[in-house]
Amino acid sequence: MVLQRIFRTVTSRAKGHRDAMPLMPVCFVGAGPGDPDLLTIKALKALQEADVIIHDRLVSAGVLALAGHQARLVDVGKEGFGPSTPQAHIDALNVKYARQGLRVVRLKGGDCTIFGRLDEEIEALEEAGLPFHIVPGITAASAAVAGIGQSLTRRGRNASARIITGHDMKGFADQDWRALAQHGEVTAIYMGKKAARFIQGRLLMHGAAPDTPVTVVENASRGDQRVLASTLADLPATLDAQALNGPALLLYGLAPRDVADHPVLAREVS
Ligand code: SAH
Repeated sequence: MVLQRIFRTVTSRAKGHRDAMPLMPVCFVGAGPGDPDLLTIKALKALQEADVIIHDRLVSAGVLALAGHQARLVDVGKEGFGPSTPQAHIDALNVKYARQGLRVVRLKGGDCTIFGRLDEEIEALEEAGLPFHIVPGITAASAAVAGIGQSLTRRGRNASARIITGHDMKGFADQDWRALAQHGEVTAIYMGKKAARFIQGRLLMHGAAPDTPVTVVENASRGDQRVLASTLADLPATLDAQALNGPALLLYGLAPRDVADHPVLAREVS
């Protein structure tokens, strides 16, 4: 493990040469939803020890500020549908820095194992015969649901909760709409802003109740967190009425807990 400074000696299979060199595992780190206090201690140590931190745009400035002063920060982020660094370029950067014997942290927003293209990057490392290590983080769904004083699962309401994406490589992502439309279902929808109208249409078509609560949480856990309580029927209008510039998660099937009874929540839920 990177934090125990175990050097693993590997022979580069990809190049086919036999000269062994000590290499540090590339450390994939979940940066959490933005609030630096939600970093794991392991993530913090990795940031402080890193030589290079290759990070996404979603990673907050507050988290990056915790990097060690020796760390070189490399931004490979993309914002929404904006210009992105090609995945192959990111894969190559991980390999390049790791081969130099540097401590590489690949820092991803939330939990790096959720909608983070982690496998693609791991496979590139494996291809190059390089070791890696994963430090999980708090995902946006956990932060968002905490921000509205709710729970993703509840006895008697839902025995499962889903994590889905609004769009995938082919466009708006298809899901098991019939299952999602059932009463009591709870789903955390990532990357759902642009797909909201599509999702609404599919769910209504499969029989979901128009008054099913949907809560939009923008910038979950951050100082500028915003909570918009809506329903399936009103979701596109709710989103259209607001200029949401930050990352936003849709919590389908959940409304904010009644804030009147909860003074701390009341400050967070607008
Ligand atoms: N690996 C990340 C998800 C990356 S996909 C995680 O585990 O959280 C990017 C999407 O995550 C965004 O489009 C948004 O839907 C969601 N997201 C990430 N951070 C968020 C935040 N602080 N608040 C609300 N949504 C967030």
